[in-house]
Amino acid sequence: ARTPQTTATTGTPEADAPIRWERDGTGVVTLVLDDPGRSANTLHQGFVAALTAVAARAEAERETLRGIVVTSAKKTFLAGGDLTELIRIGPADAAVAFDTSMAVKRALRTIETLGVPVVAAINGSALGGGYELALACHHRIVLDAPGTRIGLPEVTLGLLPGGGGVTRAVRLLGITDALLKVLLQGTQYTPRGALENGLVHEVVTSPGELTERARAFIDAHPESHQPWDAPGYRIPGGTPSSPRFAAELPAFPANLKKQTGGAPYPAPRNILAAAVEGSQVDFATAQTIEARHFTELVTGQTAKNMIQALFFDLQSVNSGASRPTGPEPRPVRRVAVLGAGTMGAGIAYACARAGIDVVLKDVTADAARAGKAYSERLLDKALARGRTTGEQRDALLARITPTADAADLAGCDAVIEAVFEDTALKHAVFQEIVKVVAPDALLCSNTSTLPITLLAEGVERPADFIGLHFFSPVDRMPLVEIVRGGRTGEGALARAFDLVRQINKTPIVVNDSRGFFTSRVIGRFLNEGVAMIGEGVPAASVEQAAAQAGYPAKVLSLMDDLTLTLGRRIREETRRAVEAAGGTWTGHPADAVVDRMADEFHRPGRAGGAGFYDYAEDGTRTGLWPGLAEHFGRPDHQVPFADIQERMLFAEALDAVRCLEEGVLTSVADANIGSIMGIGFPAWTGGVLQYINGYEGGLPGFAARARELAARYGDRFTPPALLVTKAERGERFGAEQQRTG
Ligand code: NAD
Repeated sequence: ARTPQTTATTGTPEADAPIRWERDGTGVVTLVLDDPGRSANTLHQGFVAALTAVAARAEAERETLRGIVVTSAKKTFLAGGDLTELIRIGPADAAVAFDTSMAVKRALRTIETLGVPVVAAINGSALGGGYELALACHHRIVLDAPGTRIGLPEVTLGLLPGGGGVTRAVRLLGITDALLKVLLQGTQYTPRGALENGLVHEVVTSPGELTERARAFIDAHPESHQPWDAPGYRIPGGTPSSPRFAAELPAFPANLKKQTGGAPYPAPRNILAAAVEGSQVDFATAQTIEARHFTELVTGQTAKNMIQALFFDLQSVNSGASRPTGPEPRPVRRVAVLGAGTMGAGIAYACARAGIDVVLKDVTADAARAGKAYSERLLDKALARGRTTGEQRDALLARITPTADAADLAGCDAVIEAVFEDTALKHAVFQEIVKVVAPDALLCSNTSTLPITLLAEGVERPADFIGLHFFSPVDRMPLVEIVRGGRTGEGALARAFDLVRQINKTPIVVNDSRGFFTSRVIGRFLNEGVAMIGEGVPAASVEQAAAQAGYPAKVLSLMDDLTLTLGRRIREETRRAVEAAGGTWTGHPADAVVDRMADEFHRPGRAGGAGFYDYAEDGTRTGLWPGLAEHFGRPDHQVPFADIQERMLFAEALDAVRCLEEGVLTSVADANIGSIMGIGFPAWTGGVLQYINGYEGGLPGFAARARELAARYGDRFTPPALLVTKAERGERFGAEQQRTG
């Protein structure tokens, strides 16, 4: 529905224009961003054309204009670039990408140099292109509403702000602050945070005040210019040629390396270059430099990977593509969390934070209280940082009831079990509580290794029983892997999905299998790293390769943290299960290394004080164990660095294909999101399956490289049939969003 135009509108804008021109009797024009037929305003081609048109009109009517207010009639102010368009831009479209970036810049530049005051009345989130538009205004006022965010998060999708955002942020804040506070991390600020960090000028608390203050600015500043257009303007903090700044500059490449671990993330590098180069030239030249760096990123593969996974796949996963459509959502009111250890305590916090009453049960009341104390600590920290209020803290804590008495679980409509990893214990625990909780309560286990179908055998109502695999630390890890057992009903799956969304986590849905999807696939990564030690590859090379591939944790250090004994226990359980089912157990070259490390060298991992690394008394890593070279090293055996790196990435990607083939995974989006958000598969790849799509030469290129690795390092790299077939048919994994013509 379109709101009627205000008084004395001049001209008749096109009925379907995404920007309305509303001029009042006092000569103030309100530009209302309100793209018809779309839920949010984005900078698609049509919108850019409209922006160009209003800029031209403002210029034509300049003499009679008293001021301009830019605001939006949507929930968000302006969402930024249109990702469905951006992901389709291929290397052949570089000229179009460059021209579009320049067109946005020209329109914004026209508006900011009219000489009349221009105010951004930011009524909702202004991220990316939205904040770039606001930056081109002389005054920025933001309405303080929950969920409103301000910033330039382009870097998180492998891009840079190409609508003048780099150029203006540098001129507004200085190079250092622009880079560290805004551009390189893509921080999204609350309205108050944006004010404190100098991104906006005012924060107001009501829509009426937003309009009023915008008017007041126009009345008080009949002429307005940007600070950077004033004579004698200097970039705050100096430019690279000034001695003060020159002293800071060398720290930047090191910071970048710290941010990316040396992995192939081109965006931070281009942002740094655009900021530094652009600071030493005039505004117009800086804009052209920015457009070039933008074009390089938007036509490249990394941005496509990141947009595909972190925008489209994430949206698909969260919107419930894997949720059965029948069952009506029924929000959980009271949840029983069984076991108040590491995981139970974190799960209790996450549920209470979402407004759910939690009964936290452990064997003793003290243990349960200790579990609740974890929430207290998190909240006290948040309070100290101003991220919560005392009232919110107390309310959240009041929702958690610690207990050792099963009777207190009466009325719970969902159960999440997180006791020790032991089948018999889990069965006993469910038996104890199943008659106490609501008769149709959803029954979830947070097991990380026990097959859900097997666990369900000892649980009454197996149709209501499902795996809910959280990651540690629960308060920070956004993913939950929902594991559907052989007898799990559709209703339980839908309720589990809704519960995960209710607590603001991202659900992926997988079918039961040993290690489900995430633990199984990360196991391939760990095994591959360890296997290379067995071949005599220097441990430092293995660790460096993992870091440079973009893994957040190096492979041997992660293995140490998880302990080698855990890996061995899971291996033994799997072996027994395979053999019991009449299969043959093949094992992995890593097994022999793990066995020697644990049995011969007594180095079971960090918890045992020694593993692939040495540890100080307090558990800090002091360095790789020199014994690795002595006992495993083979200086004559050379494995190319590219192979070391790709063996880890391929081991995971190939197993994800097998998961898809076996029906463990039912969607590509689940695989990509689960791998990035759950197990640290490098984000630049767009996730395990997008990595294959984006590999040089596409699926055929990936399959050929897999065959090469198989010939050198073993059958586990042989491409699965699904990959081969898809490669032959010219298909890819998942949606076709990023196909270029
Ligand atoms: P933990 O040892 O920290 O906590 C287990 C808790 O369960 C202890 O507080 C213990 O007292 C309690 N408990 C034992 N018997 C109980 C009973 N009969 N009734 C109530 N409470 C009982 O273990 P954790 O790391 O929190 O793991 C719990 C579960 O979560 C395991 O199944 C584990 O495999 C799984 N998991 C762990 C992680 C992780 O990273 N730690 C990640 C995902 C899943």
